[in-house]
Amino acid sequence: RPRRLPVRLERGSYEVIIGSGLVERAGALLSAILPQKRAIVISDAHVAELYLHPLLEALSDSGFSVQSLVVQPGEKSKSLEEFQRLTDAILEHKVERRTAIIALGGGVVGDLAGFVAASTLRGLPFVQMPTTLLSQVDSSVGGKTGINTKWGKNLIGAFHQPAVVLADVSTLATLPLREIKAGYAEIVKSGLIGDPDLFAWCEKHGEDVLSQDPNTLAEAVEKACAFKAAVVTEDEFERKAEGGRALLNLGHTFGHALEAEMGYDGSLLHGEAVSIGLRLAFMLSVRLGYCPQEDLDRLTAHLDALEMPSRISQLGRPFAARTLLDHMTRDKKMQDGKLTFVLVRGIGQAFTCRDVQAQAVHDVLVDDG
Ligand code: NAD
Ligand code: ZN
Repeated sequence: RPRRLPVRLERGSYEVIIGSGLVERAGALLSAILPQKRAIVISDAHVAELYLHPLLEALSDSGFSVQSLVVQPGEKSKSLEEFQRLTDAILEHKVERRTAIIALGGGVVGDLAGFVAASTLRGLPFVQMPTTLLSQVDSSVGGKTGINTKWGKNLIGAFHQPAVVLADVSTLATLPLREIKAGYAEIVKSGLIGDPDLFAWCEKHGEDVLSQDPNTLAEAVEKACAFKAAVVTEDEFERKAEGGRALLNLGHTFGHALEAEMGYDGSLLHGEAVSIGLRLAFMLSVRLGYCPQEDLDRLTAHLDALEMPSRISQLGRPFAARTLLDHMTRDKKMQDGKLTFVLVRGIGQAFTCRDVQAQAVHDVLVDDG
């Protein structure tokens, strides 16, 4: 039986439905939710080959009139060109206000299709069907959609909440272990931010998550989604100065610098950068006296036990600490040599710190453990 998790927002709620075999049951599930039996599925070529046909069949069997559009796999598809190609094709199909856009794929497809749904005819109903662990635990929940520009990632976009999220954990069976690990880093992150029980659960069950045991995966997705849903409910539009959605960036300032330096060519996945970034954020928190050493040791032990990325030195090439620091200061405004970081007082106790000395960040990057 699928698990149903409500995401409560001011202007109405939606559910995240988590379970096995949801692609095959999508017709029945969506009939109960969507205003019209008409949908356009957007997917990428990898995912389409595996799951598009069963999805189209399930929808047709339930009386849906459905079309599909496929993009190339990879971050490059989150572009203005691809956005234009999709909206042109959709308008050519003479969509109506109640035609739904269904994103079938990972975070790339979800972000791109979500932005298409947000902007076409000023907003079409949107369904997320995430097929990567990262998109099931993170990007499909929360309503952030968007594309990249030459000035940086995710700079054009909109908040557009889905009508429902269908997270079919059986699709994760075909996902490479490397991608599973990348998604797992975001689950660990949720625990570290504000759910110590989730981190303890990871210590106990992380191995089963990485070995893709379907029941453990479903439980992990449910726990991480519940955490994200609570954060999003509290701060839908990321307006809170303290706490709220900003805390979801734990480990990401370091991670983004590593990603930018590696150059988004697939050699370093976002989740891999986050995995290393989480440990660096803990090292920085210890160095600044906010966090006990034993909590850092516990995190390091967990990452190492599962052979998760944990150190910059594992990336197989040298990084100048100064270059990484430059990325971080470009990313955010630096005032009087001080930066804003999400830090921790311990496992499950993240907070926003506005006066982190750039020198301390530099020292952590040089140290790297
Ligand atoms: P992705 O969408 O690129 O998918 C990774 C790879 O796995 C792709 O090659 C894809 O074709 C393949 N794939 C997907 N599902 C598969 C399956 N079931 N079996 C086999 N292969 C499969 O990457 P991702 O990690 O899912 O998402 C990354 C994107 O998410 C980034 O663009 C990031 O900016 C975005 N993101 C958005 C949010 C948000 O809140 N909107 C949050 C975090 C990340
Ligand atoms: Zn992330």
